[in-house]
Amino acid sequence: MADKNNKLAENVPGPWYVDSTCTPCRTCMEVAGADAIFKYNDGETYVYVHTQPAGDEQLKVAEEAAAVCPQNAIGNDGE
Ligand code: SF4
Repeated sequence: MADKNNKLAENVPGPWYVDSTCTPCRTCMEVAGADAIFKYNDGETYVYVHTQPAGDEQLKVAEEAAAVCPQNAIGNDGE
């Protein structure tokens, strides 16, 4: 379970976030459409949410990304 108390600072405000346990293994970025929601920081040391998912299709992408994340670093209980 991702920890909203450890959200990366770069996440845009909203429910979806990546926490500091992202390695980054890149698995979530292999989900089709993930780049509309997630991106790498400059040094590619982690992934963060650059745009909150909007609409059913993007929500499915975010949910799939969260499901495949081996670190459980992606959460949707943020603010
Ligand atoms: S799948 Fe999880 S650990 Fe891997 S890059 Fe994405 S958020 Fe980070």
